[in-house]
Amino acid sequence: MNALTPDAGEATLALAEDLIARQSVTPDDNGCQSMIAQRLSAAGFHIHRLEFGDVSNLLAVHGDAGPSLMFLGHTDVVPPGPLEDWDSDPFEPSRRDGCLYGRGAADMKGAVAAMTVALEQLAPAMAGRPGRLMLLLTSDEEGPAQDGVRRVAPWLRDHGLVPDYCVVGEPSSVERLGDLVRIGRRGSLHGRLRVHGVQGHVAYPDKALNPIHALAPALAELVALDWDDGVVENGVQVFPPTSFQVSNINAGTGADNVIPGRLEALVNFRFCPASTPERLRHRVETILSRHGVDYTIGWRLSGEPFLTSPGRLREAVDSAVMSVCGIQSRADTGGGTSDGRFIAPLGSEVVEVGLVNASIHKVNEHANLTDLRRLPQVYQAIGQALLLTD
Ligand SMILES: [Zn+2]
Repeated sequence: MNALTPDAGEATLALAEDLIARQSVTPDDNGCQSMIAQRLSAAGFHIHRLEFGDVSNLLAVHGDAGPSLMFLGHTDVVPPGPLEDWDSDPFEPSRRDGCLYGRGAADMKGAVAAMTVALEQLAPAMAGRPGRLMLLLTSDEEGPAQDGVRRVAPWLRDHGLVPDYCVVGEPSSVERLGDLVRIGRRGSLHGRLRVHGVQGHVAYPDKALNPIHALAPALAELVALDWDDGVVENGVQVFPPTSFQVSNINAGTGADNVIPGRLEALVNFRFCPASTPERLRHRVETILSRHGVDYTIGWRLSGEPFLTSPGRLREAVDSAVMSVCGIQSRADTGGGTSDGRFIAPLGSEVVEVGLVNASIHKVNEHANLTDLRRLPQVYQAIGQALLLTD
């Protein structure tokens, strides 16, 4: 493996500090991407600025044919909250107690700096070799995530720039750098159920139709059902079984002598790739119909699940973490969402690996200085294994 130049760690720290100093609360990039564009342009990258609405997206591309690796991240940060709760100004980076403090240090300006430095190192080594390096940054990850990677993904497809491999720099680690990497996420499917009954006097149930009574047996069956067994890899459960939850249920007029005429319920599936949204919907509707429930239901898919199976990217990430951090990383699919969900459906292998997430979105957000020095080595080793190893 090519060693990084000795100052790669310091270069990462310095760039992370420059980024933190730019107050870039979603969707205001506040010049962060220009700073990175300038550096990568100097390293031979072709720069695309993709502005959608008030969101800034930066795509830097180096090389053309051959295997392609994209690093994915965001330059926006969440608001700092009450400034008086911070021990130092969230937008004045501060090194103390072995850590770098500031909003975005861990989520994820530290990783953006590490990716940039790793790419500066990898690009010259690509000379005369097939393969493409890319960096995609958005300023709309922490917000509505409408005009960021969601919009760039089809652009990548239309321009023949879908990467084979995508490394997302979100803070995946729990206690030590690299101890956990994310290889997928669950999908989320919402349902809004209306059960139609006939309102009446509780003393005359034969002249009414109680929607609560109509739904109860079907609901009992739905909550007791095993939807799937989850996804197991090498004896380890990488996705828990799909879960069905009722989050709201409303019926009744408030009076104790009236049978209500209708019931409304909100339900949600968190589902793994062992189930499809179509199949989940079908099973719910079949059970409701079998119980004779008179209902209508509206469905909304808020995210498809994805899973990156063992392959070249996961191998490269595992061996990079092992060689730089000396630990075996654990593959996981938990946590919140990330922009990886927009890239995975293009057919790319996607893995998230980044800094420790203990302080993200909190006051006094920070990242360990040793981790910040090591992270460019992890990213560089991944690129080395995927594009520079014959
Ligand atoms: Zn983030």
